[in-house]
Amino acid sequence: MTKTITLANGNGGEENNELISKVFYKAFHNEILERSEDAAIIHGGELAFSTDSFTVSPLFFSGADIGKLAVCGTCNDLAMMGAKPKYLTCSVIIEEGFEVAQLERIVESMRKELEVNAAIVVSGDTKVVPRGSVDKIFINTTGIGEVLKKGISSNAITHEDVIIVSRDIGAHGATIFAAREGMAMSSLLESDCSSLFPQVKALIDADIKITAMRDATRGGLSAVLNEWAKQSNICIEVQEEKIPVSDEVNGICEMLGFEATALANEGTFVLAVKKEDAFRAVKILQSFEKNAHAAVIGEVTQKYPKRVVLQSAWGTSRFLEMPTGELLPRIC
Ligand code: MG
Repeated sequence: MTKTITLANGNGGEENNELISKVFYKAFHNEILERSEDAAIIHGGELAFSTDSFTVSPLFFSGADIGKLAVCGTCNDLAMMGAKPKYLTCSVIIEEGFEVAQLERIVESMRKELEVNAAIVVSGDTKVVPRGSVDKIFINTTGIGEVLKKGISSNAITHEDVIIVSRDIGAHGATIFAAREGMAMSSLLESDCSSLFPQVKALIDADIKITAMRDATRGGLSAVLNEWAKQSNICIEVQEEKIPVSDEVNGICEMLGFEATALANEGTFVLAVKKEDAFRAVKILQSFEKNAHAAVIGEVTQKYPKRVVLQSAWGTSRFLEMPTGELLPRIC
């Protein structure tokens, strides 16, 4: 590890995982934490428990704002464990001089998104720090959910599963980048930020055999697939042309040399589903407005355990690596 913390230590990729394992897991290690799931499963498998802090800049962007993000982020991590989000906390650190009208706008976004999840805020904390000690506002939310479907785990993926992505990838990362650079982009480019519980509920209600789910936030699709390959000791082989990417996101990637697979998402998730249920799962996902491009993108093999292989339409293949360095700090 480096002697001081770098921005890359918060990238959702390689250096972030190094920081977590060498500092936090080392001190806090226990069986629940070390399962490295999106949310901890506690209380005999009945409850999911997760926390997340939000520092996104700018606070308001196409498709969402820090308030909506703060509710979606935590509720989605609960939903990824097959849980119904129920109770949240809301802690804010506010910079002296921040406009009350903006704070009210952010809190109203939170309220609306809580409604989507039928969840409530039951506890909170407010700190105000002198000008310059924090940039405008940081929000932390912690959530408890009721597990509706037990046994979902990123450590249990096998060759009987296929890999599905719920919609086109990279919209959140591309939107934040465009907003920050003041780029006048097509109005079609907007963050995918949204609550995933309604989609998860539809899959559970249809009795889809879900092995694992993970929202592709920081580090994007690349990070999720690499984490799964390691956690389940499998090789994930992905067909590059099957990965849905919108023209707008492709445009940003080409202009700036980004890989869409490494861009952050806030309402896009990856699923490992039993082969026989893959078609039905894709159909259910596609019945949601933003998920027209949900697709099976790959399969699980033993070719290169713990690695992700990307196969091009021309028959060539390469490893898809865990993202490294810092692409976009304060993406969420
Ligand atoms: Mg997550």
